Amino acid sequence: MSILDNVDFLKNEKRNNINIKILRQAVESGNVSHANLFYGNSMNLLGKLALFYSASINCANSGCGLCNTCSNTLKGVYSNVLVVEAMGSILRIDEVFELQRFMNVSSYIPGKKICIIKEVELMNDEASNRLLKTLEEPPDEDCIFILLAEDISVILPTIVSRCTVFKWDFNLEKDKDLKFDRRQLDDILNKGIRNIIKSESSKDTGNSLSLNLSLDLINRLNKMAEKIKIWRNGELNKIKDSGAAGSDIKKYKKILESSYKRKLNKFLNLGINKVFDIISAWLEDIMAVKSGAKEDGLNYSKNYFFIAENTSNIKIDKIFKLLEAVEKNRIYLKYSIYKELALDNIFLQFQNLS
Ligand SMILES: [Zn+2]
Repeated sequence: MSILDNVDFLKNEKRNNINIKILRQAVESGNVSHANLFYGNSMNLLGKLALFYSASINCANSGCGLCNTCSNTLKGVYSNVLVVEAMGSILRIDEVFELQRFMNVSSYIPGKKICIIKEVELMNDEASNRLLKTLEEPPDEDCIFILLAEDISVILPTIVSRCTVFKWDFNLEKDKDLKFDRRQLDDILNKGIRNIIKSESSKDTGNSLSLNLSLDLINRLNKMAEKIKIWRNGELNKIKDSGAAGSDIKKYKKILESSYKRKLNKFLNLGINKVFDIISAWLEDIMAVKSGAKEDGLNYSKNYFFIAENTSNIKIDKIFKLLEAVEKNRIYLKYSIYKELALDNIFLQFQNLS
């Protein structure tokens, strides 16, 4: 049994399972590729997965999860594993130097020296070329690189072609950063949806309730996204303090800005998708109660009595239509910059279910 078999944040699907099998075989045969590129939809979870793999490589039992090597690696404090955030090294090439130094010093602990580089897509040309050189001529055969990226289309092709590439699909529900946020959305939504349903049953037909709810949600999402802004400002300050040349700072700012937009967009999409999940769950529950289900047959059993008492006016065909609209809007969401409109539209329909 290896910790690689129990990565609970990976979706249980074919490609992931094949990837895991390949990694396990590499670990067990001692034939680990020295240049690996992991990419997938969460930098946070890519980082975690890279640590799982690193632990398995150096553990005497191919990743028992219990020994010192495993537990220290998973905590990120094992001295044979270096984690570099590529973000900062765009100008501060010293981070690339740091990893070259790390790879050149013979390790005092037996085993492989592993360097994990996060957000490889954000490296500038200078840092990329230096990295490429290191990949082409690794200091010694005990060096292993695991490069991490959310988007490989912008990485130097010569780097990609040097690596064994693995694409991963993550179960984003397991992403801790988002988990905490979700509870805030749950609270607003459950209260808001109850109000909308109540106003329907009392024939109070203004649209302000639904519009206010979508406004509340967007405000909350934007507030939650402030941590991304804080991250961007922190990176900007680091660079300003680094004494880099003005032209480099300008270049970096541009890259940082597009990275910021990408992160923000992704965050908002995830948030609104979560909102859609909750709305669908409510709609399914209303249908279930109407067709005689009891509490334990619902997504949210605590809503059973509320639904039973307040939804007699709601028409089943309208629920179907709204469920369909939710799924359509999920697809539009990827392309739309007006995310508020998607929510407005859905809540307006919600308010007119009877
Ligand atoms: Zn172990």
